[in-house]
This record gives sequence, C-alpha cells and structure tokens, in this order.
Amino acid sequence: MQKYDFSGLKGKICALTGGGGVIGMAMARAFAAAGIKMAILDLKKDIAEKAAKEIEKETGTRAAGIEANVLDETSLEKASAEIKQQLGPVDILVNCAGGNSPKATTQIEIMKEADKKTPEKTFYGLALDGFKFVFDLNFMGTLLPSMILTKDMLQSGSGVILNISSMNSFKPLTKIPAYSAAKAAVNNFTEWLATHLAQVNIRVNAIAPGFFLTNQNRFLLTDEKTGGLTERGKKIINGTPMGKFGEPEDLCGTALFLVSDLSSFLTGVVIPVDGGFNAYSGV
Ligand code: NAD
Repeated sequence: MQKYDFSGLKGKICALTGGGGVIGMAMARAFAAAGIKMAILDLKKDIAEKAAKEIEKETGTRAAGIEANVLDETSLEKASAEIKQQLGPVDILVNCAGGNSPKATTQIEIMKEADKKTPEKTFYGLALDGFKFVFDLNFMGTLLPSMILTKDMLQSGSGVILNISSMNSFKPLTKIPAYSAAKAAVNNFTEWLATHLAQVNIRVNAIAPGFFLTNQNRFLLTDEKTGGLTERGKKIINGTPMGKFGEPEDLCGTALFLVSDLSSFLTGVVIPVDGGFNAYSGV
C-alpha cells in the first residue's frame, strides 16, 4: 500500500545549490531531518562545509559541503564527481542559488516627468553588467546545474528537480527588472523541462516564495539606520493577507512534498508559498 508520509525519502541523495544561504540552509535542514543525504553546494568551500557540518550535527544525517559555482560548467562537473564519490548518485536537485544586486536595481519605482533630469536613477541608468550578472545568476544558474547534476537520474531511471522562483516571476516588482525577468524565465523553463523529461521519469517543479527577510532584500525592505520597515517593506506587508514576512522554514513542507513520491503525478508547476500575496488583488 502507498505510504502517505515522507519515509520514502530516507537514504535519497540531494544536491542543493546555494546551500549556505538562508533559504538553502532551512531546506537542507528539513531534508536531512527526513533522512535525505545532503550535498550542500555553495560558491565558497568554507561556506558549504560549515553548513554541512552544522546539518550533520543537528540531524545525524550525512551531509557533504562542496564548492560549486552554478555559472561555471567545469566547477559543476567537478562538484558532480565529488558528490558521487562522497555520497553516491544524485536523486534530487534543488536549484536554490540566486539573488539580486543593487547594481541591477533602479532607484525609483515609476518614472515621472521630473525624473528625466536624473536618468541615472531610472531604467536608463542601470549598469548592463549588473543586469547581466543578476539575470545569469538566477536563470543560467538554474539551467546549468539542471543539465550537469541530473545525469545520474537518467542512469537510475528517476529523479526530481526543484527550482526556486519568486513572486516577481508572475508580476514584476518595481525596481528589479533583471531579477524579475530571470525568475519569469525560471518558471517557463520549469514547464519546458518538465515536459521534456516527463517520460524519462524526472519531475521538475518550482516554489515561488513570497517575502522573507534575507540578505538579498534587507537593503530594500528595512531601513539600515532605524531597522524599521521602508515604504516598500510596508507595501509588501500590506499586500500579504497574512500580514507578515515568511520564515524560511515555511517553505520546507511544500519542498518536501514536491521532492517526495506523494507528488508523483505532479510536474511542471510553480507553487506560491507566500501568505496569500499572489492571490490578493490589493482591494
Ligand atoms: P542568500 O543570499 O541567503 O543565499 C544565496 C546563496 O547562494 C549564498 O549562500 C551564496 O553564496 C550562494 N551563491 C551565490 N552565487 C552563487 C554561485 N554563482 N554559485 C553557487 N552559489 C552561489 O539568499 P536566499 O534568500 O536564501 O535565496 C535563496 C533563493 O531563494 C534564491 O534563488 C532567491 O532568489 C530565492 N528567493 C528568495 C526570497 C527572499 O525573500 N529571500 C524570495 C523569493 C525567492
């Protein structure tokens, strides 16, 4: 009989990119608690190893910290070999590395006549290298690991990919066009890849987190001096029917569901986990 719990995940092997970050760590912790062996991948070896040690200590499940740049094919190939050697073949890939940058952020939201005098604060002042960096990190940084770290799944005959999208993917938030465009592309790619891989038994889904206070958005949502909410932070809270930011742990139940056999007929979806933000019209 089918078991309606997460026990089927015990002993599986998961590669999670951006594993040293706030959301990556929360997911890695939850996955390891369910018995999934974790390869924590991050840009810097020391960040990855520190996270892995912490998780192994807390959960008693094997975790390995591995250096991997999601934008560099050679680095990912090397990481893939290292995961295989330390843990075994990958069953689950979570594409969690991503983020925004002030260099890809306009200073004003909606351009007014007077703003023509200060184009540097508008779309016209965006640094293209900043735009490209953010777009690539979020989109190519999902595509490349999906190509390189899932080859074991083809061999074993099954696997799951979980992408981390964003609220910006459905409707772009003001100021951050590169991040929004990249996350919209992640949704589209989730559907494309889910279709492409459906008959080789690899499922591909995504979570679109709502708003969580983390390093990538703290500069936009809170005032550095007072620690209080910025106008933008207040707008987000007002747009979230539950009236609060999420905690990274709020994503874990949905993530576990999507990588488990409980969702075995589910592929190509993007699930908002957002306190109702996506459902609310604002009125
Ligand atoms: P974070 O900055 O805490 O973590 C990101 C991690 O990715 C860091 O450990 C960083 O070292 C790593 N990283 C950066 N560049 C990398 C690269 N080239 N290769 C490998 N690793 C790299 O961010 P977070 O808030 O935990 O975000 C995780 C994911 O969730 C991102 O994809 C982000 O876009 C998404 N997200 C976050 C929020 C939020 O409110 N924080 C909302 C929606 C979506």
